[in-house]
Amino acid sequence: MLPQEIIRRKRDGAALTDEEIRFFVRGIADGGVSEGQIAAFAMAVFFKDMSMDERVAFTLAMRDSGRILEWRSLDLPGPVMDKHSTGGVGDVVSLLLGPMIAACGGYVPMISGRGLGHTGGTLDKLDAIAGYCSTPEIVKFREVVRDVGVAIIGQTAQLAPADKRMYSIRDVTATVESVAMITGSILSKKLSAGLAALVMDVKVGSGAFMPTPEKSLELAQAIVNVGNGAGMRTTALLTDMNESLAPSAGNALEVRLALDYLAGRCRPARLHEVTLALCVELLVTSGISASDQDARIRLLAALDSGAAAERFARMVSALGGPTDLFEQPGKYLDATSLTVPVPAGRNGFVTRCDCRALGLAVVGLGGGRTRPSDSIDFAVGLSQLARIGDRIERGQTLALVHARNEDAAQRAVKEVLSAFEIGDVAPPDNPLVYQRIAP
Ligand code: URA
Repeated sequence: MLPQEIIRRKRDGAALTDEEIRFFVRGIADGGVSEGQIAAFAMAVFFKDMSMDERVAFTLAMRDSGRILEWRSLDLPGPVMDKHSTGGVGDVVSLLLGPMIAACGGYVPMISGRGLGHTGGTLDKLDAIAGYCSTPEIVKFREVVRDVGVAIIGQTAQLAPADKRMYSIRDVTATVESVAMITGSILSKKLSAGLAALVMDVKVGSGAFMPTPEKSLELAQAIVNVGNGAGMRTTALLTDMNESLAPSAGNALEVRLALDYLAGRCRPARLHEVTLALCVELLVTSGISASDQDARIRLLAALDSGAAAERFARMVSALGGPTDLFEQPGKYLDATSLTVPVPAGRNGFVTRCDCRALGLAVVGLGGGRTRPSDSIDFAVGLSQLARIGDRIERGQTLALVHARNEDAAQRAVKEVLSAFEIGDVAPPDNPLVYQRIAP
């Protein structure tokens, strides 16, 4: 078999066989195909797409390019599951969902990513906690999942290495935006974590990774079809990202919010509803709960009893972080000494928010990366974000900017101000969960 013949067949619109896909993906992992050939293949797939059978074969081949975690030998008394999101602003769900599911009897080996573009990354949030080790050995990772029920770590080179190489080439050849390849990329990593169940949170709106609601739906359907086709019980929710999910955006600020949420000090409505909806999906598809209602009752009990907070605290200390993070967050989470309010320019209602611009304002403050090698300032970001529909008086705070210096703060104030539209008429309520996609 020759890589160039496989590329030629895809270029001409043919459906590739399992053998051809396996051969090519093996070459991506072991260097048998060149960077140029991977780029050409990605461009051919971008234009000619893949059938359902090809997508499943591609995903499984990428999964098989590295190690696949197995959990059976640990004899866990509950199912292994996870959530994945296409990424957003103020999306701190992973830090809540993992311990909540663990407190309900599930096991969550969560392998998360760094921030991408305007979106925040779970890994960056955890790295904001002094001492937390997000890159433990796999043995330690498995141990924490077994003992605590949840461990959230970063991607390891051992899982789906073909995706790692291919993604870095797609990233610089304008071939990221292909549903077939995004599906394979996300699911190969999730399948290599050995999950029985997955819920996918596909964001829709001005802060979403997919450019239109139709594309978000297409991606959700592809992930559900391919995930189930590969033997992992998979459902997806299309959720709103027309504004920040939480009132804070920025790494340490979001961790503080997660601590407050788990400790019951605050439960911002949007964050709470989306987190519960995703957790309910997992408890029901994994078989822990027989109904949505039962799942909700269990989850609220896990929160109210402090069981979920306790799981989070144990995970943090098991992975090298402090044992008193809930009691003394200020000791372990960096904060800026400067906070500057963003005053509304007029009276009215918040009618629209450019959520992507909010995310970029956080990146501009130093809270995200413009190049993969950039380091991050965990302390900066936005808090007290106004919500769409809020009644606002002129001069009232639309957000609080946490910055390192006055110049950076003033730049962010301008960006945040122009991200919000204020009008005379209250906008209609946006649903939080637009649609559920099941096999
Ligand atoms: N996230 C991934 O992991 N892969 C993609 O292709 C796009 C987003």
